Amino acid sequence: MLRTKEKYHEDLFAMRSNIYIGGECVGRDDPRLRPGINVLDVTFDLAQDPEWKGVATAISPVTGKEINRWAHLPQNPHDLITKQKLIRLGARRVGGCIQRCMGHDAINALAICTREMDDANGTDYHRRFLDYLTMYHDKDLDGCCAQTDSKGDRMKRPSEQEDPDAYLHVVEERDDGIVVSGFKMSITQAAYADEIIALPTRAMMESDRDYAVAFAIPGDAEGLSLITRPVWLRGNDKKDAPPFCKYGVSDCIVYFDKVFVPKARVFMCGEWQFGRRLAMLFADSHRHSYSGCKPAVSDILCGTASLAAEANNVARASHIKEKLSEFAGAAELAFAAGVAAAVYGEKTASGVFFPNAIYANVGRRLTGELIYHEYNILTEIAGGIAVTMPFDEDFEKGDHAAAMQRFIVRNPGLSSEESLKIWQLVENIGVSSMAAWYKIAGVHGGGSPIMETIALNIGYDFKDKKQLARYLAGIDNELDDAAMRKMEPKLGGMDS
Ligand SMILES: Cc1cc2nc3c(=O)[nH]c(=O)nc-3n(C[C@H](O)[C@H](O)[C@H](O)COP(=O)(O)OP(=O)(O)OC[C@H]3O[C@@H](n4cnc5c(N)ncnc54)[C@H](O)[C@@H]3O)c2cc1C
Repeated sequence: MLRTKEKYHEDLFAMRSNIYIGGECVGRDDPRLRPGINVLDVTFDLAQDPEWKGVATAISPVTGKEINRWAHLPQNPHDLITKQKLIRLGARRVGGCIQRCMGHDAINALAICTREMDDANGTDYHRRFLDYLTMYHDKDLDGCCAQTDSKGDRMKRPSEQEDPDAYLHVVEERDDGIVVSGFKMSITQAAYADEIIALPTRAMMESDRDYAVAFAIPGDAEGLSLITRPVWLRGNDKKDAPPFCKYGVSDCIVYFDKVFVPKARVFMCGEWQFGRRLAMLFADSHRHSYSGCKPAVSDILCGTASLAAEANNVARASHIKEKLSEFAGAAELAFAAGVAAAVYGEKTASGVFFPNAIYANVGRRLTGELIYHEYNILTEIAGGIAVTMPFDEDFEKGDHAAAMQRFIVRNPGLSSEESLKIWQLVENIGVSSMAAWYKIAGVHGGGSPIMETIALNIGYDFKDKKQLARYLAGIDNELDDAAMRKMEPKLGGMDS
């Protein structure tokens, strides 16, 4: 059964209060969480909308029933491309992050890795996970992904940390489950998610066995505290605020203080050899998700910069046109990398169709690195007004409201009302606390840039390229056809 947003709210507000903002325990109905909940509402609304059936929804491979696509396990390239489209569609509506992809990427990583662990070790994690997913689908739940540990001293392994809680770990194994402690950090939408899906964040060694742990628990489980940082836009509570202003986000430090996880919800416990695999499966799936969301962020920046150019009446200047074309490159190359990752993906033993990691990583790296450049284009085109404009009230009341209405107009073809709305948008998109969030998310979300470099150094076939160069240099007389064939990506699953 697809949940309505009203049912989602009802379930959410009935949860135990374990959210902390500024040192106070608050309910999930705290108004500071609402901007993030408004974003999730869009994901429930899209699934209810007949126009988006098949895009915002899918047929569950485990229950055979209609589910929200965010809970889907992609079965073929079409599913992956549809996910990309859904992310771009949703992100354009809320002015940025749609917040559901981390949960999607986490369940996909678990579906694949639990099967691989069982095949290697004879465990029964995969069946357990599918039982859990059946419940997740039947109740149309929303999960966040808690992968990033607080990590303490970055140069030390999990088991070497002075504070063992720097990485989430098992403190007790019982017949009926496990007890875990530790800090996860920067976890988006944990404060208004039904479930928290915890995964390892890195490769492990045998000494890190206790840290090789994955599971899912309700967001209000006993012993769990969510220390939350909400981000919202100024003026979001005003009656005539533009639609974009009602959206925002919250990220949490998720503090596990001896939290009991029932066995049925434990999907890795001690399999340190699979720590890297599970971490990478999430990361690569998430980098593919970026190929849907980053184009939307570029769309938003491009549209805002175009409006700013119009408001400044400089849209016809050749250097402005040249700058705007860069957004097209940023958005569509990212999207194209995602399509290529989908088309050249592969069917895993679990049945999940997984994106090609090389295309997912090059797309993510390109777009992550471009983010500050794109904000710079907006800044160049808009001029300094984004940070020097008086407050909204100065245009509405007081001795100078009429003068301010004249001040704000630059292009005589635009009214003062339109001009003010454009510059308020430029401020919100370019320099607000949300803008800062998008800049940092562009660089670090899905892993710091070095992580994509590492993934490419591991996965990309540099040896074949060197062999090609040896042939071109005349060192080898013949081109090794086998190596050339390896250079061609396989069209995995095109027939499925
Ligand atoms: C807006 C936002 C939303 C996010 N949402 C989520 C989420 O929903 N779920 C989730 O799990 N995570 C989330 N993250 C976390 C994100 O995945 C991390 O920020 C990212 O992996 C980088 O980790 P870090 O922030 O701890 O930085 P660090 O890992 O501390 O990196 C800082 C610098 O140190 C370097 N460094 C780190 N370790 C080493 C080392 N051992 N040797 C050499 N150099 C090193 C890095 O290369 C980097 O240059 C989010 C992050 C942001 C910014």
